[in-house]
Amino acid sequence: MARSRVARLERTKAQRKRTRTIAIVAASLVVTVSAGIAIAVAVRAAQGASSPASAQDVGATRASVHEDLLTSISPDPTMTVNGAGAPIEVPDVVGTAIEQAETLLALAGFSVMRVPTPPGEAAEGTVLSQEPAAGTKLPPGSEVQLIYADSAAASDALAANIPGRARFVVCIDPGHQARANMTVEPIGPGSKETKPKVTGGATGAVTKQPEHELALAVSLKLKEKLEAEGIEVVMTRTAAGVDISNRQRAEVANNAGADLFVRVHADGSTNGDVRGISALYPSGNEWVRPIEARSLRAARIIHGSLINSTGAEDRGITPRADIAGFNWSRVPVVLVECGFLSNPVEDKLLATDEYRQELADAIARGIMEYLGT
Ligand SMILES: [Zn+2]
Repeated sequence: MARSRVARLERTKAQRKRTRTIAIVAASLVVTVSAGIAIAVAVRAAQGASSPASAQDVGATRASVHEDLLTSISPDPTMTVNGAGAPIEVPDVVGTAIEQAETLLALAGFSVMRVPTPPGEAAEGTVLSQEPAAGTKLPPGSEVQLIYADSAAASDALAANIPGRARFVVCIDPGHQARANMTVEPIGPGSKETKPKVTGGATGAVTKQPEHELALAVSLKLKEKLEAEGIEVVMTRTAAGVDISNRQRAEVANNAGADLFVRVHADGSTNGDVRGISALYPSGNEWVRPIEARSLRAARIIHGSLINSTGAEDRGITPRADIAGFNWSRVPVVLVECGFLSNPVEDKLLATDEYRQELADAIARGIMEYLGT
């Protein structure tokens, strides 16, 4: 009898230690990941601590922590923080003044993080987007990010007068990678809808060149061209054997504070006759509202430059609401489709060093015009 109680005590102690480790891991995550994930992780760890869980349950907690990080930032609507209060719905504050939004969220029981962004056409101080979106349920005290128009952010981004600092930063994302990663990620902050992290891309009908290789070749030429113009370039990848999701690619651009995020791709179709160049830009959802106008302008200019230079068939510019690499971006973003690898003529052209250089030069000219240099 007594012995089994001791054994049970020992077991409980061991569980506590494990749980504490998870809590520490969770706490350190708060610093590095978005609030939604951190809270979900912390809460799950807390649940592990409060219930008389077996070692297996603790293991399961650990597994679910890992899964949360990989697949979803959507908070679990059923969770509570040790009786600290049921989850509450995040109010819609987009379009209001930042001070008003802050008051509203504080009254609702949330903490606020301000994220200034260049205003574009928006009025100074207006909240342009929020993360997580309105309607998301979070425990009281959770952090809500407010992205708001602030002209000080614009002058920071331009910072032309600081010696030794590049005037502009451009992030280039060569599309795809050697191996696709079909595990999924949310298509935007707080979304339950998911998409594969990175798909495989197109393949040359004749040459068999993979899209990831062509995209990297054009991107490296583009990098060289922009750097020669004094622009700082940040690459999402410079090799084929990487594993970077579309969300992570957008985060590279965000963290770089890029003035423009340029994604280089080529098209594919089941119809081998289809050919031409197009550009995609973000539009049609709350996530991309703050960057839509500037992205559209960049798409028009860069696409125009590509068509003028190459004489390729003009397939126009297309608004897209469903691209994770757009929806996670906080900086203006354009995706160029440099031609159809499924078209034998364009495939052969796209395999040549001269045509790749022509594409890179045309994209660079477009970027320079967009930046106003
Ligand atoms: Zn692609």
